[in-house]
Amino acid sequence: DVRTPRVLSIQSHTVQGYVGNKAAVFPLQLLGFEVDPINSVQFSNHTGYSIVRGQVLDGDQLWALIEGLEANDLLYYTHLLTGYIGSLSFLEMVLQVLQKLRAVNPNLIYVCDPVMGDEGKFYIKPELAPVFRSKVVPVASMLTPNQFELEILTGSSIRTEKEALQACETLHALGPSQVIITSLDIDNKLLLIGSDKPNKDEPAKQFRISMPKIPAYFTGTGDLMTALLLGWSYKYQNDLAKAAELAVSSLQGVLRRTISDYEEAGVSPNLKQLELRLVQSQTEISSPKLAYRAEKL
Ligand code: ADP
Ligand code: PLP
Ligand code: ZN
Repeated sequence: DVRTPRVLSIQSHTVQGYVGNKAAVFPLQLLGFEVDPINSVQFSNHTGYSIVRGQVLDGDQLWALIEGLEANDLLYYTHLLTGYIGSLSFLEMVLQVLQKLRAVNPNLIYVCDPVMGDEGKFYIKPELAPVFRSKVVPVASMLTPNQFELEILTGSSIRTEKEALQACETLHALGPSQVIITSLDIDNKLLLIGSDKPNKDEPAKQFRISMPKIPAYFTGTGDLMTALLLGWSYKYQNDLAKAAELAVSSLQGVLRRTISDYEEAGVSPNLKQLELRLVQSQTEISSPKLAYRAEKL
């Protein structure tokens, strides 16, 4: 069935808990997508726990999977989705995969979360950053950096909404027509900034969505957010603001349920080991109540 959108999702797998593919596959399936996960790593659990054990897929192993698909004529995808990528050789191979997928479907949408770090700290080798800037950004259709990643990609500090909007223009000029800054922390408030530039000759359509900052530490929210943005932006192809409203409303619904479930169980939601209550949030994912609105800028 070529009319069902099909996503190749190259992300982490955790045996227990929800980051990477574990945070992306189920929500996209609920939204009606075929999702084919390639697990770039298989870890026992996410990095919020004190111990992590597991295996890392290397570039050649990734390529073997792609060759298997190709040999069976199974390389038709509407979307490629990537998140955390730990090594240079794996990143280079992901770019090869993208080329192959676009040879089969020139309209393939590449949704890239350029995972590099957060709150001023890298969680990849800093040597990867220039490769993201020079090779990955130019081929991405939608880019979903956080504030830190935006600063690294544009080489400038982002402290105000105005600077963020300007940085989106910088990224548009490099390639992606859609840029979503998933969170901008300004005066202890959280903003999502969206910028949609389908046409190079027209100014970008930009918007902001304000969110309350929940006093808790979540892992996997970035991965879930990017998956939801992929899903809703495909359903609302000419309305990125609407897609973002739905994604934010859905995500905040998941976070509210997560907090209240932990509180009911008598567990402090400040724990870094906290897990998203994804399975319990099916309704929030498949039919979010529009509680957050985009303001056009
Ligand atoms: P990443 O994990 O990639 O750094 P973000 O921190 O931007 O991603 O989080 C992604 C989304 O998760 C944000 O857009 C926001 O909606 C939500 N989020 C994450 N943490 C919180 C929080 N403490 N309070 C409210 N929303 C949050
Ligand atoms: N732990 C592992 C193993 C991951 O792969 C990731 C992201 O892919 C994270 C934690 C953090 O996810 P996020 O940035 O969405 O909080
Ligand atoms: Zn992230």
